[in-house]
Amino acid sequence: MAIDSLFKQMKAEGQDVIGFAAGEPDFPTPDHIKEAAFQAIRENFTRYTPASGTLELKQAACDRVKADFGVSYTPSQAVVASGAKHVVYLALRALVDPGDEIILPTPAWVSYHELIRMVGGIPVVIHASESEQFKLSPEKLEQAITPRTKAVIFNNPSNPTGMLYDARQLRALAEVCVRYDLYILSDEIYSSLVYDGRDFTCMAALGEEVKRRTILINGVSKSYAMTGWRIGYGLAEPEIARVMSNYVSHSTGSPCAVSQKAALTALTASQEQIRSMREAFQARRDYMVARINAIPDVGCIRPEGAFYVMMNVEKQIGRTIGGFEIGSAEDFATAFLKQGLVAVVPGEGFGAPGFVRWSYAASMENIKEGLDRLERFLAQ
Ligand code: PMP
Repeated sequence: MAIDSLFKQMKAEGQDVIGFAAGEPDFPTPDHIKEAAFQAIRENFTRYTPASGTLELKQAACDRVKADFGVSYTPSQAVVASGAKHVVYLALRALVDPGDEIILPTPAWVSYHELIRMVGGIPVVIHASESEQFKLSPEKLEQAITPRTKAVIFNNPSNPTGMLYDARQLRALAEVCVRYDLYILSDEIYSSLVYDGRDFTCMAALGEEVKRRTILINGVSKSYAMTGWRIGYGLAEPEIARVMSNYVSHSTGSPCAVSQKAALTALTASQEQIRSMREAFQARRDYMVARINAIPDVGCIRPEGAFYVMMNVEKQIGRTIGGFEIGSAEDFATAFLKQGLVAVVPGEGFGAPGFVRWSYAASMENIKEGLDRLERFLAQ
């Protein structure tokens, strides 16, 4: 947040800064989706809907998951809410009793930790290093389990690392969860952004025993460039879905009616635009990874999904660059912004000190310029 507000301040002052901190696609929402929203407004679809979403949108979410991953759900198992973030909150709200431990593999998206704490849970952080491909091993997972463990959060592919668990890795982790009778929160918001022709494995596709204990979380924000529309969905056992729906009903009420119509079109119309966005992201990733790894004393592993790259800056720590003493990734990010005029996110908040996160949800032109600036910044 500190870097972000500094970035905004510098931009407002008219400085030529470039941002790579965004967690959202830079593409506009596709026209056919926007048209569905215009039509909903014209037809006065502007009232409350059922609290956890319209039946048609719940059905569309079930159909999408069936078509994409071969997993069957019915609308009574679906909860539509105001973004996937809201769905994560509702899932934790429904599952967690005060003092329950929730296992959180890191590096992780910053909100999970706070969401766990907000519902009275205790985050149990397990770190995976870059040499482990930032991936949790079944052994480490098992070691972290106590009698108070209620659930594990998985985010596949991951924000911030871009790493993807393949079917074998995911199955080994799920087996531990089954053995210890844990719930699984599977945040699959980046499921359509997987590169190099890799297969994405949906957690709930690993069999009935896994599916029963999984709350599957997805949404339209990333796949369809719809972050501002605020629609996400969860799929779970009917009794869990019911509790989540009750919380929606008495807190926010139904998600935006117009956005639900737009999301319905996103999920049911041609999925062709996802492919072109994915191709653009892949080309940007390839460029960014190659450039970063060609620069001395920084580096990154090759992300397999999402739109983030974790750049290792450990070798920069202890240096002085352009008058700035670099004692941490946060110092690096601050100096890079003030001196190099480029905003990246320091890794500390993700549980990854020694790293900064670049988002490649930015134009190729900006990516080239940002990396040129990195080269000049480090060469000082
Ligand atoms: N999960 C992860 C891992 C994310 O990165 C984000 C967005 N930054 C979300 C959930 C939230 O998505 P939404 O816009 O649907 O709330």
